[in-house]
Formats: sequence, C-alpha cells, structure tokens
Amino acid sequence: MTGEPLALYVHWPFCVSKCPYCDFNSHVRAEIDQAAWREALLADLAYEARLLPDRTLTSIFFGGGTPSLMEPKTVEAVIAAATTHWAPADKIEITLEANPNSVEAARFADLATTGVNRLSLGLQSFDDAALAFLGRAHSALEGFRALEIAQRNVRRVSFDLIYALPGDTEDGWSATLAQALSLSTSHLSLYQLTIEPGTRFASDVAKHRFGPLDADRSAALYELTDAMTSAAGILPYEISNYARRGQESRHNLTYWRYGDYAGVGPGAHGRRLGMRTVRHKKPENFLSGMRRNGHGLSEEEFLLPTEAADEALVMGLRLSEGIDAGAIARRFGLTSIVDWPRVDRLVQSGHLSRDGERIAVTASGRLVLEAILGEIAARTISVVAAPLPESRPESAAALPPARQVAAC
Ligand code: SF4
Repeated sequence: MTGEPLALYVHWPFCVSKCPYCDFNSHVRAEIDQAAWREALLADLAYEARLLPDRTLTSIFFGGGTPSLMEPKTVEAVIAAATTHWAPADKIEITLEANPNSVEAARFADLATTGVNRLSLGLQSFDDAALAFLGRAHSALEGFRALEIAQRNVRRVSFDLIYALPGDTEDGWSATLAQALSLSTSHLSLYQLTIEPGTRFASDVAKHRFGPLDADRSAALYELTDAMTSAAGILPYEISNYARRGQESRHNLTYWRYGDYAGVGPGAHGRRLGMRTVRHKKPENFLSGMRRNGHGLSEEEFLLPTEAADEALVMGLRLSEGIDAGAIARRFGLTSIVDWPRVDRLVQSGHLSRDGERIAVTASGRLVLEAILGEIAARTISVVAAPLPESRPESAAALPPARQVAAC
C-alpha cells in the first residue's frame, strides 16, 4: 500500500417503498433515469478524487436507499472509476447493501461480476408478521432464498435483523438469533428498533397506536444478544455489529476509527482532510447541484480540533476495541479529550476498562454509552498545537452519520 488510506461511500437514494421506521435518505420515485444517475455519480466521484490525490482505496460501500436497485453496470462503472482515481488496496472490500426480494436477489450474480465482494442483506426478521409490521416489501421465505443466493455468489455476506419490537420476548428473540447463527454467516448487524423523529412510527407512537419496548426488556435482549453471539464465536465489535475475527466491516471500521472517507451521491456525508462534507439530500436537488457546480456538495466545513476530537471519541467508543485517548488528543493538538478522574470512576463501577491511555466500554457500559460519553468528555480542553484551518463557517459540526453506517 502506498498513499494514505481512504474509504469511499456511494449513496443510492431510491427505494421501492418507504419503511415506517426509516429515517435514512431514501425516496420513492416512479421513474429513475439510470443513465443520468450513473453520469452524476461518476462526476461527483471525480470531483472528490481531484481533492484527494494519491490515496490508497481500502473500501467502497454502496449504501442507500436500496443500492441493489442500481443497474449492475452503474455499480461496475463506479468501481472502475474509483479504482482508477485511487490505487486499490490489495484486499479492497467492496460492499453493497441489498434488499432480499426476488427481483433484487436475481441480480446478485451480476453484481458479483462487477467487483462487489461483500453483500449486506436487509433481512430484518424471519417472521412474516414482524416483516409486515416493519413495512418490509419481502417475506421471510424470500429472505432465506436471497441469503442462499447471496452466499452462493459472493464470498462475504452479512445480514441485518431488527429486534426489540413491541411485544418481543427473550424466548422469541433467542429462537430467532439461534436461527440466524445457524445460517453460516460471519457477520451480523443486529439493531434494536428505535423510533426516529419524522418517521411514520414516530407518529404512530404519538397517537398511541403502539409503544416501544420498555428499556429494561430492551436491555435484557441486548445482553442476551451479546451472550449468544459470543458463544457462537461471532463477537461484538461495535454496539450493533458482530463478526468472526477478521470478518468485521473494514469500511465501517474506517468511520469508527476516524479515518478519511469520501462520500458521494445524495445526502452522503464524508470526512476529508479535516473537513466534513455533506451532499444535497433530495435527489432532484442533488442533480441540479451537479449540473450547476459539477459536484453534489451542500455543505463543507472545517472542524475545530475540539470538534474533531469529540467525534473521534464518540465514534471510537462504539467499538469494543475502544480508543487511545492520548493518541487522539495528540492527533488534534489537545491536552486531553477525556476527564481522567471520571474515567477512573467508571472503571471502578465496571462500565469502562482502561489500559494506560487506552479506554474501552465494557459490555455493561454499552447499555449506557450515551450517558458515559456525557460523563467523560473533557469539560475544558486546552489546545496545545492547534492545526486550525484558515477559515471556518460558524455553524457547529454535526456528528458523522450513524445511519450511513447502518444497513437498512
Ligand atoms: S429501511 Fe431501507 S428499504 Fe426501507 S425505506 Fe429505509 S432505506 Fe429503504
């Protein structure tokens, strides 16, 4: 490998229907001009490549939306362009998120020929009633068939399940998880249902149509998940992600380890050279931005060292490996990014582990990660060697997008 490592995120913003829990940047359109989108994505990619010369491309991630609705030749063209702009790493990981309905599953063999070497399938449940509740456009049987086709065609296949639905019990989830673990996967994304503002589920909850599972039962299901996956050798390496050793998503590790990634396509976030980048979310606005400016950027912002360090802390503590708090502080020219006496108190209470300047959240700490972050983030940080940019807009930086990390 030669240049500094770089990951690439490509956002495909279209879905066949909108799931009621979903707050991803996804849109339903009667017609999609695939050729126009291919051209736009390639031009947006070329724009980022000009700003990031001489990098080694370690991963590409096609997220959405539903990128399995992309024409395989678009996927192929993006991969070819990306690996021409940047030198691909020897074992470049190329992931595509896919939905398991039969039309999309029929494309998996074609997608495998484009260079995609990892599929992330949104199975979500093995129960038709739960799939209907989640508004999914596939049945459990279609899910199993799609998984089988994916595993036949692509070397690495992960799938997602959503649990902690209203009425979920430990017995029910334990049976589902046992089934999931029997399906020869080496990576699982297991998300608890969260009610996101602006979704149809948020309005259903407000109208008392249903209520979310209570916090104690959700915590019990989370602990059960940790225990069962660990016993099967599929270890928790991030709050909601589990893998056999060596099978972790390298792309998502780049986010959590606070590496650089280019983000192209509608609503994609990126992080390059100390800046956060955001693209126009609405597909039509993105296309007009492309026509007007030659890129889809809607915001570009230098991060203050304190903001970047905060992000690195928040992202890094999602990982079981934790963070080197000293290394992050030095990277951003800060005295410290955590309040060490508070860290030590949480080590005493069993919520954190510490080895020198390295800290990690324990299994019990993962249940209360947000509270831990609020507790340990250094209240006053001195800049010892500020790598400040020449100019910076006023607005505060938003955190990197958790949803860009998650498959749908
Ligand atoms: S959850 Fe996935 S498939 Fe459903 S609307 Fe959102 S992006 Fe589309």
